[in-house]
Amino acid sequence: MSSPAQAANQAVRRLLRQLGKEYDLKRGMKPFSDNKDIYVIRRYFKDKCCYCRKNIMDVQWDKDHLIPMNKEQGGLHAWGNIVPSCKECNATKQGSDWIAYIQSLYLDSNQEQSRVRRIKAFVRRYKYDLDENMSSDISKLATNLYISITKYVSDEISIKLLEGKNILSK
Ligand SMILES: [Zn+2]
Repeated sequence: MSSPAQAANQAVRRLLRQLGKEYDLKRGMKPFSDNKDIYVIRRYFKDKCCYCRKNIMDVQWDKDHLIPMNKEQGGLHAWGNIVPSCKECNATKQGSDWIAYIQSLYLDSNQEQSRVRRIKAFVRRYKYDLDENMSSDISKLATNLYISITKYVSDEISIKLLEGKNILSK
């Protein structure tokens, strides 16, 4: 079912996607292409889920964002934030912090630390490095967009509902 909140979330994702392109360009990179570049990051992680290391040739997988692409965290769809993830990790991690998620995944602390190191190296490799001010400003921007879209959609629906009632009462 569609709701004003869903419309607003979609707008937020779109904003963070477009901003991701800008951020890629700013860092001198070609904006991440979902069709082509996903293979580059898959190769980086040797065709494994970046979190649990399951072979993604064998399982269903998807792109995931280390910093979630939502209004709270404001992660961008950009090089260094997009990683290959199996469906299971993607669904379980959701909006949580990726380091915390990895900690929940491994019993062995050496394995856990090596995973964290590997992903940090990936982030550094692509220079995804928004400082705290930038992140918080982006998050504010996304939150404002969310609020205005939610309000706009509910207001419009109320107005059109009244008009619709008039049509029905003719
Ligand atoms: Zn996984």
